[in-house]
Amino acid sequence: MKPTLTILIEGYAHPNEDGSYTASPTTSLLRFNGKNYIIDPGCNEKLLLEKMAEYSLKVEDITAIFLTHYHLDHVLNIRLFPSTPIYDGNMQWDQDKEIFYTDYWLIPEFKLLATPGHAGEQFSLLIDTENLGLACIVQDVFWWEDGKQTSNTVEELLASKDPFMSDHAALLESRKKVLESGAKWIIPGHGKLFKNPL
Ligand SMILES: [Zn+2]
Repeated sequence: MKPTLTILIEGYAHPNEDGSYTASPTTSLLRFNGKNYIIDPGCNEKLLLEKMAEYSLKVEDITAIFLTHYHLDHVLNIRLFPSTPIYDGNMQWDQDKEIFYTDYWLIPEFKLLATPGHAGEQFSLLIDTENLGLACIVQDVFWWEDGKQTSNTVEELLASKDPFMSDHAALLESRKKVLESGAKWIIPGHGKLFKNPL
């Protein structure tokens, strides 16, 4: 068996009339060999706990959490998991000790791709899944406000606007890397998973 990928929460983002902004990212659940992994727990506590309950998962059932980058909307819900190991794309923290790794996250099936540009430090996961085939969880390498997703062609995807990007050239390279990764499905940070047009 290969890992199974479930979109627990489809990421959303939209401005409000009062000038505030509402957003929480896609939260993915990877299940493999009886273990449960969460990618970007987001910032909507109630929705995350509801969705986990739909899969009969309690906080203590989560083996580990992966953070793709450090924007708070992707990160805040780690406070729900005080005892769960937290990782980013190249490091685990054990109290004040940094444990580095490369190439894959925890197991060879969870392959890492460095995909900076939206944020300075950002990683994607490329995973051959049981249910979707080769899938790439890229989070904010691609993201859209609600109703604005345009992911039909390579040109549209490369040109997709990102008002929060930190480095346009790096983002463009990361987008090309993801599209050329062989992934059949791409999971964006805010928006619906989409088929890779390449
Ligand atoms: Zn972000």
